[in-house]
Amino acid sequence: MPEVKPYWKNYIDGAWVDGGSGKLTVENPATGEKLAEQAIASAADVDRAVQAAKRVYLDEAWAGLRPVERSRKVQAMGRYLLENLHEIAELLTLEQGKPYWEAVIEIEGSARYFEYYGNQAETVEGRSIPLGDGYFDFTTHEPMGVSAQIIPWNYPVEMIARGIAAALATGNACVVKTAELTPLSAAYLALAGEYAGLPQGALNILCGHGHEAGAALSGHVDVNQIVFTGSVKTGVAIASAAAKNVVPCVLELGGKSAAIVHADANLDAFETDIRWGIYFNAGQVCSAMSRIIVHESIHDDVVERASKIAGSLSVGAGIDRREVGANMGSMVSLTQRDRAASMIRAAEGAGAIIAAGGRPLNVPGAFLDPTVLTGVTQDMTIANEEVFGPVLSVLKFKNDAEAIQMANATPYGLVGGVFTRDIDRATKAATKIRAGQVFVNEWFAGGVETPFGGYGKSGYGREKGREALWNYVQTKNVAIKLA
Ligand code: NAP
Ligand code: MG
Repeated sequence: MPEVKPYWKNYIDGAWVDGGSGKLTVENPATGEKLAEQAIASAADVDRAVQAAKRVYLDEAWAGLRPVERSRKVQAMGRYLLENLHEIAELLTLEQGKPYWEAVIEIEGSARYFEYYGNQAETVEGRSIPLGDGYFDFTTHEPMGVSAQIIPWNYPVEMIARGIAAALATGNACVVKTAELTPLSAAYLALAGEYAGLPQGALNILCGHGHEAGAALSGHVDVNQIVFTGSVKTGVAIASAAAKNVVPCVLELGGKSAAIVHADANLDAFETDIRWGIYFNAGQVCSAMSRIIVHESIHDDVVERASKIAGSLSVGAGIDRREVGANMGSMVSLTQRDRAASMIRAAEGAGAIIAAGGRPLNVPGAFLDPTVLTGVTQDMTIANEEVFGPVLSVLKFKNDAEAIQMANATPYGLVGGVFTRDIDRATKAATKIRAGQVFVNEWFAGGVETPFGGYGKSGYGREKGREALWNYVQTKNVAIKLA
């Protein structure tokens, strides 16, 4: 087991500081044992971080730089992560539970955000609008100011990277609140900022309780913009607090996303989509393929294939799972594991059938067997509510219209997929699925370059791609009357 520093501080205004609300214990979910202690920020700590960020924004030490200078620093942050890849990935694995090789993918993905948004810094251009003789008019994009970012525990490094890379590239200063379950690896983002030479106070990273530090940050009068990823309930609380200060939010609130699988789909290829779509990160992915809506003629074949994949995964401590392969780590906590297990039991009670897995592993740690549920119908809770675990629900359809209707029948609308060799059928489904992103014949197709975000209760605003840049800037119009 790699050694972990026993106590981790918050990073406020360029200094590592204790927390005004003491410390909390971070556990290794694969063993249930204590990993380290983390400083817990009070509302006063949050205020100091916001004031530091505001100072940086107002004195133009960051926003006033030529974009190419910001671009180079943002890109340097990504290089720092790659240079320390192994160390960060081990820590991430120990606090979050995912296999080491998945943690490596997360750190590489995080570095990619700094590369991409570093590149974009120079592209945030305005336009000139013709107003007729006697006028010259142009627009500019100015940073919002202080960007507050509240982060979940499923991708603790990548979710920070995604938000701060775009925010910093566009000249904002950031205050990040990490999740209580996974605050440790976030420290490397502060170190990346130091390495890159960000001005003191441009990036503040602190951990605190949601109801205390999270609430203080989302309701702070000097915050100009909020990014939140997490549950619907907390998203509503944050958006309500933001509304009192008339502050815009970007909300990413999860989903219950469906793959529609037609009779002509390439099922050999689809096995790979099942493996990644629902068992990557033990299903703790907002865009997970948590439902399969399959044509009745191939239903049994698909269930058999899904069960084979679920059964093939070796489940155990992430730190021992070094190589890309047929394995899965622990969930993030016993609470999350038990919540998922109770949703499986409730589904069974409602008439669903467990085709694979379905039970917690009888060992210490937050392990759940990769699970496949069949006989799921649209009226069941399991077909509508996010499990956020390695639990796949399989539903049946008879015709295309019914498949689309089922895909759109939940309160969510984050992503969706359609699997078929028929281009017309795929295109029609893509236009009918109510979700921010549609995958045709490959779940998770896309990248840092492609916009991501929800319809309905999955939230609003878009992260990733060029779309995300517009979350972090104000548009100003300047109209000049010529003499
Ligand atoms: P959560 O409550 O939404 O937590 C996400 C983040 O919000 C954490 O940093 C949390 O801090 C913070 N927070 C909590 N209450 C807050 C408040 N009143 N004001 C400001 N910030 C606040 O999620 P959770 O309780 O960890 O997980 C519950 C469920 O949410 C999961 O089962 C899953 O369904 C969903 N979820 C979705 C995603 C996603 O990517 N869409 C990610 C995580 C969870 P603390 O850590 O201190 O509570
Ligand atoms: Mg919570």
